[in-house]
Amino acid sequence: MNNSSENRPRPSLTVDTEWWWRALESGELLVQRCAGCDLLRHPPEPTCGACGSDEWSGVLVAGGAILHSWVVVHEPALPGFAPPYAVALADLDEGVRMVVALEGAEPGTIEIGMRLALAVHERGGLALPVARPA
Ligand code: ZN
Repeated sequence: MNNSSENRPRPSLTVDTEWWWRALESGELLVQRCAGCDLLRHPPEPTCGACGSDEWSGVLVAGGAILHSWVVVHEPALPGFAPPYAVALADLDEGVRMVVALEGAEPGTIEIGMRLALAVHERGGLALPVARPA
């Protein structure tokens, strides 16, 4: 599974998401912590869905997670991606869910509930969170 092509689609950076992508470029995997109620959340949003506060900070996560669900993508073939490749919903130990690339596990060995270790890696010219079996 080679997904290192430089012609992958690029994320559309917004005032609400650019900080998260820039942190990845620095090797940091962050989530938001609401300043009003301390709730952690991801993906980045301008306001807290629980208390409505628009004050927040970025907090580093440790990278431990449980596999909530996963899929192996065969089609459609997207620019910069070489199917088949696995995409996971990872439940981070901090309590937030994140969509990540799942590498280092053949489809027959992937099981919901398995421990994952997330880290930031360069893929296709982008710094991205990548999960591997822990
Ligand atoms: Zn809140």
